[in-house]
Amino acid sequence: MNTDSSLEPGILPGEQFERLRDRLEGRIALPSDDDWDEQRRAWQLLADQHPSAVVVAAGVQDVVETVTFARRFGLRVAPQSTGHGAGALPSLAETILLRTSALGGVDVDRFTGRARAGAGAVWGDVAAAAAEHGLAAVAGMSSTVGVVGLALGGGLGWLARSHGLAADSIVAIEGVDAQSRVIRADADQHADLLWAARGGVAPVIVTAIELQLHPIAELWAGGMLWAIDRTADVVHAWREWIADVPDSVTSLARVLRYPPLPELPESLRGRAFVAIEVAVQESGDDVEDLLAPLRALEPDIDSVRTMSPAELAGVHGDPPQPAPAYGDAVVLTEISPASADAFVAAALAPASTPLVSIELRQLGGMLTPGRATGGAVSTIDGAGLVYVVGIVPVPEALEPVRAATAEVIGRLAAFASTRAVKTFSERPIGADALYGDAAEQVRRVAAAWDPQGIVRSAHPLR
Ligand SMILES: Cc1cc2nc3c(=O)[nH]c(=O)nc-3n(C[C@H](O)[C@H](O)[C@H](O)COP(=O)(O)OP(=O)(O)OC[C@H]3O[C@@H](n4cnc5c(N)ncnc54)[C@H](O)[C@@H]3O)c2cc1C
Repeated sequence: MNTDSSLEPGILPGEQFERLRDRLEGRIALPSDDDWDEQRRAWQLLADQHPSAVVVAAGVQDVVETVTFARRFGLRVAPQSTGHGAGALPSLAETILLRTSALGGVDVDRFTGRARAGAGAVWGDVAAAAAEHGLAAVAGMSSTVGVVGLALGGGLGWLARSHGLAADSIVAIEGVDAQSRVIRADADQHADLLWAARGGVAPVIVTAIELQLHPIAELWAGGMLWAIDRTADVVHAWREWIADVPDSVTSLARVLRYPPLPELPESLRGRAFVAIEVAVQESGDDVEDLLAPLRALEPDIDSVRTMSPAELAGVHGDPPQPAPAYGDAVVLTEISPASADAFVAAALAPASTPLVSIELRQLGGMLTPGRATGGAVSTIDGAGLVYVVGIVPVPEALEPVRAATAEVIGRLAAFASTRAVKTFSERPIGADALYGDAAEQVRRVAAAWDPQGIVRSAHPLR
């Protein structure tokens, strides 16, 4: 813990920030700086963040200095790597936004099959490093999302049904706690913190994370697309197909409306489709047999092929650059003829919707309650996850996108679970919906590690 008496309490933080600047190897940005708007910007461009200051940590010691400073002056510290999840943060008044983006680097130990990633690493970094050793990480579907934010939140990707949530592959976290202590939590030490970090809350600033990788050198993945007027046929065929697929198959059905952007290929630009996207870990002949019922529907575009797990991030087509996106999600208790009908109706009406994607991911497999138990949230109690998103290029577009999103979610209410999935909850949401029966224990661990509530997380507990 830093005990330097030059940081005396009782003086306005605004004056003291200059002292913090002298103590940092990295950068501190203040509202008076010319590039303040750039420094406070998140990947999620709809988030209008107004912290007291932004610290870009150059190393663990900068994190220690920042937490010490915040504690002395009654401020909070909000860790952020990319800002994909910035919409779920509460107000950043009286808060230092601590960027971990410079704490990058990924090392893979091929003997233990584990990766150690700095808190600034993104999933593309881990996937590429793992693939060099014929290994795969339990990642999300986008390469630009932060490793720490997605893994702490649960993390649902192309290996979800075969290997569970990303949170369950966390082996250890290293970080700085609210008392400025540099700590490590793993199976042998601070196991309570490791448990909470797996899908619950990490009431510390994580500086590095260790993940278990899996021996997957190659798999089959890609998308099949049909014109949007085939939506009912395709969604119901997919529903029947997923009823029998093994856990080695993770898939989703979605309705996609591509905007008329010049950077999109002509085959997609301004057009609307129904799509099925899959990732399959089976050998070639078995894959052909497995996919036959979908291919019998004669897709207009079929990009399913063998690929390295490092290429999986190309399958879902998430935007590589920061975007102003507004989305919402709901867990479905069943993927039945009735809920699939409701999904189709919601996805198709109204025809002029501003939404770009309405998707239904199959859950189950290793996500089934009881099949994994390593953390606060290790499974998802539900059959499917619907995620709905629209782009908000100008402020006036927000209300139509918000209304269209609410309409889709509302149309699925009869099949909705009371639980929410953290990484798909884009605005602050209550602990009971996120953590269920584990909520009380998550609160206890957070209170023990951070009694003053210095670490400001997405979806705060208080
Ligand atoms: C384009 C896009 C695609 C996505 N795809 C998927 C997907 O396929 N599957 C899925 O599950 N989710 C997905 N998400 C959601 C994403 O997982 C969450 O938004 C996640 O929180 C982002 O993590 P981040 O580190 O990039 O974001 P950040 O906004 O930087 O971090 C989010 C939160 O994580 C916590 N956190 C981050 N860093 C630290 C740290 N060093 N110490 C302690 N806490 C920390 C904080 O509470 C922080 O507010 C996607 C989001 C977007 C925008």
